[in-house]
Formats: sequence, C-alpha cells, structure tokens
Amino acid sequence: MAPDIDRSRCINCLVCVDICPYDVFKKVDGIAKVFSPQNCIECSECIRNCTSNAISLI
Ligand code: SF4
Ligand code: SF4
Repeated sequence: MAPDIDRSRCINCLVCVDICPYDVFKKVDGIAKVFSPQNCIECSECIRNCTSNAISLI
C-alpha cells in the first residue's frame, strides 16, 4: 500500500513532507506530493498527523 492525498481536503501544510521518516512525500512546485510511494512502510504517521484527514493508504 501507499499513501494518497485527497486534494479536496489538503490545505498544503506540508506536515506530511516533514513527518514521514522515509521521505515518501516531497514538496513539488510548492505542493505536497506523493513522490516515493515505494518507500512507504505503512507506519500511519502521516495519517495521524494530517489535521485535514487528507491522507489514506490505498
Ligand atoms: S499533512 Fe495533510 S493537509 Fe498537510 S500537506 Fe500533507 S496531506 Fe496536505
Ligand atoms: S505511512 Fe509512514 S512511511 Fe508511509 S507515507 Fe505515511 S509516514 Fe511515510
């Protein structure tokens, strides 16, 4: 599984970029993007820390 960002919910706080220990997210053109989904170990840290509930594992 890998994280997915619901763009309709995301407020682009970039917390996920900072918090993922495996650098799955990256700021691209100022926006948080899922950049290295293959690195995800499904720890759910990003989901727990996204205050907009914009991240799910799919
Ligand atoms: S933590 Fe959530 S709201 Fe913030 S940039 Fe990531 S997906 Fe968007
Ligand atoms: S579940 Fe863990 S490893 Fe996967 S993207 Fe979120 S913080 Fe990173």
